[in-house]
Amino acid sequence: MIAERLIEAVGAEAVKTAPEDLAVYAFDAYTQSETLPSAVVLPASTRDVAAIVKIAAACGEPIVARGAGTGLCGGAVPTGGGIVMSFARMNRLLELDVRNRRARVQPGLINLELSKQIASTGLFYAPDPASQKSSTLGGNIGTNAGGPHCLSYGVTVNHVVGLEVVDERGEVFTSDVDDAGYDLTGVLVGSEGTLGIVTSAWVRLLRLPESVRVWLAAFPDVESACEAVSAIVGSGILPTALEIMDSVILGAVEAAFHAGYPTDAGAVLLIESAGFTDEMNAREAEIRAIVRAQGALSWRAAATQAERDALWAGRKGAAGATGRIAPNYYTQDVCVPRTRLPEALRAVERSARAHGIAVGNVFHAGDGNLHPLMLYDKRDRRQVAGVVEAGNEILQTCIDLGGTISGEHGIGHEKRAGMNLIYSTDDLAAMARVRDVFDPKRMLNPEKIFPAGAKCGEPL
Ligand SMILES: Cc1cc2nc3c(=O)[nH]c(=O)nc-3n(C[C@H](O)[C@H](O)[C@H](O)COP(=O)(O)OP(=O)(O)OC[C@H]3O[C@@H](n4cnc5c(N)ncnc54)[C@H](O)[C@@H]3O)c2cc1C
Repeated sequence: MIAERLIEAVGAEAVKTAPEDLAVYAFDAYTQSETLPSAVVLPASTRDVAAIVKIAAACGEPIVARGAGTGLCGGAVPTGGGIVMSFARMNRLLELDVRNRRARVQPGLINLELSKQIASTGLFYAPDPASQKSSTLGGNIGTNAGGPHCLSYGVTVNHVVGLEVVDERGEVFTSDVDDAGYDLTGVLVGSEGTLGIVTSAWVRLLRLPESVRVWLAAFPDVESACEAVSAIVGSGILPTALEIMDSVILGAVEAAFHAGYPTDAGAVLLIESAGFTDEMNAREAEIRAIVRAQGALSWRAAATQAERDALWAGRKGAAGATGRIAPNYYTQDVCVPRTRLPEALRAVERSARAHGIAVGNVFHAGDGNLHPLMLYDKRDRRQVAGVVEAGNEILQTCIDLGGTISGEHGIGHEKRAGMNLIYSTDDLAAMARVRDVFDPKRMLNPEKIFPAGAKCGEPL
C-alpha cells in the first residue's frame, strides 16, 4: 500500500489520505478534477521529495507538484489521480546574498513574502503576479509567471538564476544560468511540473527604486486607453507598469476597495514609473501629454504611498472583486501584439454578447496580455456552455490577430487542446522529445501541456 510506504519515508503528519483532505487538493483557482489523488504528501526537505518520487515510481503513481493552487488552467490538478506533492512546508528563504543580489528559496515560499523578508536590505524580487499574496515561487517557476511589473522587469524566467530539481527517478540535479552547456534553467522554468520537481531556486533580486510614481488616466472607452498604451511605448518611454481596467471591473473594484477609481469612466489606465526622483516630474509631463492627446478625460497622481497602495490593491484584487457582480468568473489569458488590443477587445465583447455572457476586462496592456473575465453562474448549464464557446472563439481570434493562447497562466490541463492551434505536429514532437528525455514514462504531471492522446513516445 503506497500510503504506508510514504508514511514510513516521511512521517504520518506529512501524508494525507482521508477523502475530505484529498478533496482540498483536487482543484486550483478554476479547474476541479473529477478524480481525487490517491494521497497528498507534504515534504519538508529535498531528501523527502526524492524519497517520495522513488516510492511513486516504484508503485507506478504519477506525481503532481503543487504550490498554492492559484493556477487558472488546471496545472496543479491531479486530473489522472496520482500523488499530489504540496510544498506548503518547504516555504523558507534559505540564503540571502546581498552583495550578489541573490536569494535561495524553497518552492513553497509565497512570492510577496520574499520581498517582505528582504525589504530592510533595499532589495526586492520583481516578478509580481496579481496573486503574489498567495502564490508560491515554485508555482511561479512552474508557470513562468508574469505580473503587472513584468512589462519593464521581465517575467519569472528572467529572474531565476539556478535550480535544484528532483527528477522522475528521485535523483537530484542542479542547473545554473552562469554555467556553460545547455540552459536547463530556461527549459525548466515554465515546464509546469512536467520535467522535474523544483526543490530550491536561486533568484535574482533588484534594488528598490529611489522613487515610484503612480498615475491614473481615465478614458471614455477601453479602445482609447489601449491606443494610449501603444502611444506611450511607441514614444520610447517604458513605464514599470501599464494596466487597464474597463467600466465593468471598475465598478466592482471601487465597491470592494474604495481606492478612488472613477466609476463613470469607460476605462482607466494605471501607470507606474520608477527611477530617480529628479527625473519623475519630466516623466509625468511626457506621459500626461501623450494620454491627453489620446483622449484621456482626467489625470490623477497618487500623492502618498497609501494612495499608491490603494490603487494597486484595487488592481491586484480585481478578479476577486467580481464576486460582487457574478457568482463565478472564468479568466481567459491570451496575448496579442499590443497594437492589436483594440480589435481583440472588440472581438471579446462580440463573442461574449453572442453567447449571452457578461464580460469585464482587466489586463497587462503594456504586454498585450488580455484577461477577459467572463462573468457567469456555474449552476446554469447554458451559461457554462456559453463561457466555453466564447472562450474558444476569443482564443482563435487572438491567434488570428498574431497572438497566442497564453500570456502567463500556462497551458495546464485546460488549454492543451489549444496547443494544436499554434503548433504543428513537428513542433509538438520536438517538445515531446524534450519531455521524454526528462520523464520518459510521463509520470510527472501527466495530462498537462500536450494535447489529449499524447502517450509515451508519441508527440500527440
Ligand atoms: C486572482 C488571481 C490573479 C492572478 N494573477 C496572475 C498574474 O498576474 N500573473 C500570472 O502569471 N499568473 C497569475 N495568476 C495565476 C497563478 O497565480 C500563477 O499561475 C501562479 O504562478 C501559480 O502559483 P501557485 O503557487 O498557486 O502554483 P500552483 O497553481 O499550485 O501550480 C502551478 C503550476 O506549477 C507547478 N508547480 C508548482 N510547484 C512546483 C514545483 N515545486 N516544481 C515544479 N512545478 C511546480 C504545478 O504542477 C502547476 O503546473 C493569478 C491567479 C489568480 C487566482
